[in-house]
Amino acid sequence: DSLMKTRWAGRNILYYETTDSTNLRIRQAGDEGAPHGTLAVADRQTAGRGRRGRTWESPAGNSIYMSVLLRPDIAPNKASMLTIVMALSVAEGIGQWIPMIQIKWPNDIIVNGKKLVGILTEMSAQVDYINHVTVGVGINVNMTEFPEEIADTATSLRLECGHTVKRAPLIAAVMERLEENYEIFLKTEDLSGLMDRYSALLVNRDRDVRIIGEKETYQARAVGIDHTGELLVRREDGSMEKIYAGEVSVRGV
Ligand code: ATP
Repeated sequence: DSLMKTRWAGRNILYYETTDSTNLRIRQAGDEGAPHGTLAVADRQTAGRGRRGRTWESPAGNSIYMSVLLRPDIAPNKASMLTIVMALSVAEGIGQWIPMIQIKWPNDIIVNGKKLVGILTEMSAQVDYINHVTVGVGINVNMTEFPEEIADTATSLRLECGHTVKRAPLIAAVMERLEENYEIFLKTEDLSGLMDRYSALLVNRDRDVRIIGEKETYQARAVGIDHTGELLVRREDGSMEKIYAGEVSVRGV
């Protein structure tokens, strides 16, 4: 805690040795009135989740499973941009440990082509206002092996750096980046102040990606994100298209 130089991000910390999911703990804390910036951290999750009901593998072993409570005074349809704000903040925070960090739009952090971090944003809202938003982050810090299903696609900071990494300074670094990036986001309520830095870290920038949509699947070249967080791609015929995160899977790493 004494490491934390922030005003609100991670000032109030809920710690769990084992919990089902830090996102569920923060959702509950949010319902019970916990302050903006409250952080839940667990050593192990028994029901870590990814998008669309997927699982986030969360074994014990000095990794980071954490979720932050945000109370933005913005329209509910802008909340998905907070995933981008967090992805950039995690990438910049971890970048202090390893330089070759990249982002797989919208929500994964990649090193050497493997997944190091997953991010899951969930919201509690009425039609026109947000009660609170939970942004969960799983960072593979010190694990050296993974379940068979993800053994080829997952990596950890320890595997990439060759030594163990302390968790507290890493959490503090991410919270510092989050506080600054979130405040930049709030000024315009969009990503115009962050999209250049985010786009520069895109793993598939200037590379071909396969867009797997509901209607069609096609090759295109990712060039960056726009101010709303949509992925900008250039199709083979030169036309530009915007991809919405909810709609498609992007392959190519
Ligand atoms: P995709 O990468 O297929 O587009 P996604 O970004 O939606 O998926 P998430 O929902 O963020 O993925 O994360 C869940 C997926 O991540 C799982 O289906 C599994 O493949 C992978 N995964 C689960 N746990 C870990 C982990 N600890 N480290 C790396 N990858 C993991």
